[in-house]
Amino acid sequence: MPNERISDIRIERVALELLDQYSITDPGFDIEDLAEAERLEVRRGGLKNIDAWLVRKPEGGGIIRLRDDTPEVGRVRFSIAHEIGHWLLHPGLCQGFLCTAADMVDYARSPEEAEANRFAANLLMPKSWIPAGTWKKDPEFSVTAGLAKDFKTTLTAATRRYVELATHAVVLVFSKNGTVHWSLKSPRAKPLFIERAVSVPANSITRECIDQGKNAGPALVEPDVWFPDWHFDDDSEVFEDVRISTTYGWAMTILWVPELG
Ligand SMILES: [Zn+2]
Repeated sequence: MPNERISDIRIERVALELLDQYSITDPGFDIEDLAEAERLEVRRGGLKNIDAWLVRKPEGGGIIRLRDDTPEVGRVRFSIAHEIGHWLLHPGLCQGFLCTAADMVDYARSPEEAEANRFAANLLMPKSWIPAGTWKKDPEFSVTAGLAKDFKTTLTAATRRYVELATHAVVLVFSKNGTVHWSLKSPRAKPLFIERAVSVPANSITRECIDQGKNAGPALVEPDVWFPDWHFDDDSEVFEDVRISTTYGWAMTILWVPELG
């Protein structure tokens, strides 16, 4: 029987209620303490090809197991938040979740993984905790990297959260091995369209970054490189900013279309 999908509003509510229940108001809060308060014991080691693992104990409570070779605090916190998401959102689904690094950035393939990721984003970066000044700056990775640092989360999670809530017209494109995997638009960028499962455009800065294994931008790019179907004015501008991970094989692109916002 297909599992019913959980709305974004409900996911946000579950995350905020959890923070409220434990009176958590600090962006760098100790998520391991929170897991344990929820009867989830956090253990490390014994994992190779997966990033995190959740099992429900028959007697109640559960165990979150993490790789012990994850160097970044942001990744560890995101993994724990993701597993708490499965714990609270998917109680009847199965007794265990094995979550890979790919699952932690999956918003296209598995609904449960996407829900656990959305939960983690809401738990680690509640909307009301993001400083108002954030929205006045030009949309680029320097801004979202600052958020990732302040909120001790991953660049992917912080950038997604930023784009979801942004007041500018921005699109985030996540590609893997040169193919567009998913994209996310801010409310003002809704009219724009990014095709999925196609190659990253040939004349984009992202393509250059993937080929050369480096970051670049923000820089101006011809608007029709990314949006061939959109009718732009002659003086329209699109800014492209790119970060790549050679370790995980992904590229993230922020596209900002100032004429839309
Ligand atoms: Zn998962």
